Amino acid sequence: SAAAERYEYQAEVSRLMDLIVNSLYSNKEVFLRELISNASDALDKLRFLSVTEPGLLKEAVDFDIRIQADKDNGIISITDTGIGMTRQELVDCLGTIAQSGTAKFLKALKDSKDAGGDNNLIGQFGVGFYSAFLVSDRVVVSTKSPKSDKQYVWEGEANASSYTISEETDPEKLIPRGTRLTLYLKRDDKGFAHPERIEKLVKNYSQFVSFPIYTWQEKGYTKEVEVDEDTAEDKKDDQDDKTEKKKKTKTVVERYWDWELTNDTQPIWLRNPKEVTKEEYNEFYKKTFNEYLEPLASSHFTTEGEVEFRSILYVPAFAPSGKDDIINPKTKNIRLFVKRVFISDDFDGELFPRYLSFVKGVVDSNDLPLNVSREILQESRIVRIMRKRLVRKAFDMILGISMSENKEDYEKFWENFGKHLKLGCIEDRENHKRIAPLLRFFSSQSDEELISLDEYVENMKPDQKDIYYIAADSVTSAKNTPFLEKLAEKDLEVLFLVDPIDEVAIQNLKSYKEKNFVDISKEDLDLGDKNEEKEKEMKQEFGQTCDWIKKRLGDKVASVQISNRLSSSPCVLVSGKFGWSANMERLMKAQSM
Ligand code: ADP
Ligand code: MG
Repeated sequence: SAAAERYEYQAEVSRLMDLIVNSLYSNKEVFLRELISNASDALDKLRFLSVTEPGLLKEAVDFDIRIQADKDNGIISITDTGIGMTRQELVDCLGTIAQSGTAKFLKALKDSKDAGGDNNLIGQFGVGFYSAFLVSDRVVVSTKSPKSDKQYVWEGEANASSYTISEETDPEKLIPRGTRLTLYLKRDDKGFAHPERIEKLVKNYSQFVSFPIYTWQEKGYTKEVEVDEDTAEDKKDDQDDKTEKKKKTKTVVERYWDWELTNDTQPIWLRNPKEVTKEEYNEFYKKTFNEYLEPLASSHFTTEGEVEFRSILYVPAFAPSGKDDIINPKTKNIRLFVKRVFISDDFDGELFPRYLSFVKGVVDSNDLPLNVSREILQESRIVRIMRKRLVRKAFDMILGISMSENKEDYEKFWENFGKHLKLGCIEDRENHKRIAPLLRFFSSQSDEELISLDEYVENMKPDQKDIYYIAADSVTSAKNTPFLEKLAEKDLEVLFLVDPIDEVAIQNLKSYKEKNFVDISKEDLDLGDKNEEKEKEMKQEFGQTCDWIKKRLGDKVASVQISNRLSSSPCVLVSGKFGWSANMERLMKAQSM
């Protein structure tokens, strides 16, 4: 065979392999899930690329995954007919970490160590190709890309710092297209190479892979065979009864080996929602998005009519730790399929506005072209309609959480995604009606609890026309502001806007259920208790004092006025009717620094 070339792993890879072997020890069986998911990705990639490059399919083989276990020798092989790898891709993909799953694993491991480490979580993350070394001493990857006319063999050993690549020369091992992984199991892990064990793992881990997975199984069928060995007794019988020669038969089991379809390839979103259990939805979520927590809610629906598509959407239980996910909404959270063919998960606001980019799910459309590009997505009328429906369903789902008996769910939701909804107040005027009921705020009468605008409205006084708010940097400072005095005296509730984005969000909403939002720190606050007679008297009595104070303060204030809005404090600084509130000024200052 041609000489193998030796390559060093990128430093991170060696470290990763070490970590995988040491920290996933108790959850070794994930290796099969990872390798099947790579095979499935490779098939997805080929199917997708072949839409525009039909030449890639010149080898007429089915799209499938085949797993064979040799229990006598402790060898497992996993073969797919996917996109395969060129020599350069072998170096790039299996010698370096540039890819999602493995990089995510390293980060998760670091985070979990930083956080004091719950190592049980680790097993749930995508650890990628290198998980093969959890159970293998040696891994051989023989692969043929339709872009290359040669088949290459990558070979690596556990605990080694290098690997080799050579050309496949053994004619017996040539494959038309795709990749065959051969795992030479460690002595203690040879038990994985049992066909029944493989079957069980495939059923457990890969029920949502949309390509057929075949496993090599021993089968049997029964047949009747004639028995021809004549016993002495038989001979005697024969002599006794010569006219009727009796034929003797017995039943035997014929053994043979064959491929058996081991998974259910019907995608879950094509099934009837009535027949899918909550557990199945949650499993699908965890496997598709590499999540380890159950989602807070899910919604499975079909739309018909103008545009037809099916979708399952989820609200995650927590926001990714990166703080910039609102600013950078390219989350890979929505997987778009066209007629069951995976098209893309790389969206930037086409299917969901960016403030809802935390919603995860799958969308399968029959109305989009298979070779749909980003440009088409951005301009398509169909996509606009889809987006509208998806957004509506997402809001229904969130509303559902807010009405759930389990109050903690919405608290969790709000903690993680409240900011996103507030951003929605600013960016999505069209959906104000859907967003507003979902908002939560502290108030002067709510103690530690957050309240909804509905709760506020319910608690309004009979003659109260407006919804009062004050923006401050904390609940404590809001509670202590002199602006509250008069309202507290009248037992009027005031919303405390303590998150920097709150005030802008509220100003964008303008009103809720026809009640205007009114900033109690603004100069024209009208609590409906004006007494013109008294005001006139006061102005006469204190007019000169005001003039004197204005003179002393000069340009520091716009004006000095008599007010009826305080009850115990002697004076208060208010913002002009058209100016920024003090809180906004603070914010603007903070931003310009
Ligand atoms: P991830 O799947 O998250 O990208 P992996 O470590 O699982 O990370 O895989 C690394 C890369 O190796 C993949 O992105 C892919 O390019 C390549 N790869 C792995 N398995 C296969 C396969 N069966 N066929 C084609 N390419 C593969
Ligand atoms: Mg992978």
